Amino acid sequence: HTITRPPPTPSPLRFSKFFQANLRILVTGGAGFIGSHLVDRLMENEKHEVIVVDNYFTGSKDNLKKWIGHPRFELIRHDVTEPLLVEVDQIYHLACPASPIFYKYNPVKTIKTNVIGTLNMLGLAKRVGARILLTSTSEVYGDPLEHPQNEEYWGNVNPIGVRSCYDEGKRVAETLMFDYHRQHGIEIRIARIFNTYGPRMNIDDGRVVSNFIAQALRGESLTVQAPGTQTRSFCYVSDMVDGLIRLMDGEHTGPINIGNPGEFTMMELAETVKELIDPTVEVKIVENTPDDPRQRKPDITKARELLGWEPKIKLREGLPLMEEDFRQRLGVPKKHNN
Ligand code: NAD
Ligand code: UDP
Ligand code: UDP
Repeated sequence: HTITRPPPTPSPLRFSKFFQANLRILVTGGAGFIGSHLVDRLMENEKHEVIVVDNYFTGSKDNLKKWIGHPRFELIRHDVTEPLLVEVDQIYHLACPASPIFYKYNPVKTIKTNVIGTLNMLGLAKRVGARILLTSTSEVYGDPLEHPQNEEYWGNVNPIGVRSCYDEGKRVAETLMFDYHRQHGIEIRIARIFNTYGPRMNIDDGRVVSNFIAQALRGESLTVQAPGTQTRSFCYVSDMVDGLIRLMDGEHTGPINIGNPGEFTMMELAETVKELIDPTVEVKIVENTPDDPRQRKPDITKARELLGWEPKIKLREGLPLMEEDFRQRLGVPKKHNN
């Protein structure tokens, strides 16, 4: 016959872990564009508690208003360049302005956010034993000499240009992630995000999709920066969030490209927005900014094979969803032709 033993008495700490059904997740930069969509998705899981820290440089409480006051949600005004003491299981580290006009506005602050901010979040991950995901960028490939870009490509980056605070900042952030991983055994994940668009982007943040949609809705000319033949690949935000969660919860450190391989010239994008929103607006060529990468398209073989992920929303499907959000925020109702 079998002997049934009483279960071992857990220590108070293990006991609380035993009943801790929740995963407590920190999202830095969670009041921003991608961060707030990520928070929405994480909060849908009742086993998750979500803590957002944000300094509101480019993000806003408005993006999180449906969660404020929710018992599983906490919002902290905090700058990641300062140390942070919280107890969490996972860290999605997004805090960093993403739009060129914002990251160039205070480049020294941008590099501090990338370097000191990432160092602090790694110190936190080390202290509490959390897994940490960094949202790096396709900008680590610079003005790429290989096309499309896969994760083995080391990049072609200007170390002293006006974009360097962002792209070199992210490269150092990736280095820090791998050094903490090798030296301290921290569990890391690195996503290299390619251009992402969708509802809640800052209307005047200067990025191309938000600019063109806002311009078309305001009846202004679409400003294609010369020459207009430069390319980008645009990923809809729900696909991006799905990829980030798969990367965090999977077994691979990365870096892994997350983006949509559909590649468009800026002239093609302008023509598409024009056709979808207002065929009467004009497209004009304006001066470009220095160091603008000429082409960018992710090789997502790794994401497909290791994460079972690929984007689902095509540009022509995503743009109208963003148009709808911009119409509401700009107060421009849709015209009915019939
Ligand atoms: P965003 O500007 O909307 O969000 C960034 C958030 O970080 C904002 O809420 C901002 O207030 C906050 N923040 C900035 N500096 C901070 C600091 N020092 N302390 C605390 N909070 C701070 O940008 P996003 O498009 O949501 O980008 C999110 C992340 O994804 C960024 O790390 C960005 O580099 C990366 N990324 C985005 C894209 C894209 O196309 N959107 C492309 C590549 C990489
Ligand atoms: N840090 C933090 N929260 C923590 C633990 C550390 O913000 O819970 C910061 C800490 O202030 C330090 C950085 O993370 O500046 C790196 O920490 P680490 O312990 O790796 O290095 P050290 O403190 O020894 O320099
Ligand atoms: N761009 C444009 N018109 C605009 C804003 C940007 O033609 O009003 C171009 C810009 O020159 C670049 C591309 O769009 O080639 C993407 O720029 P964005 O600032 O959106 O992102 P990033 O350069 O970081 O990819």
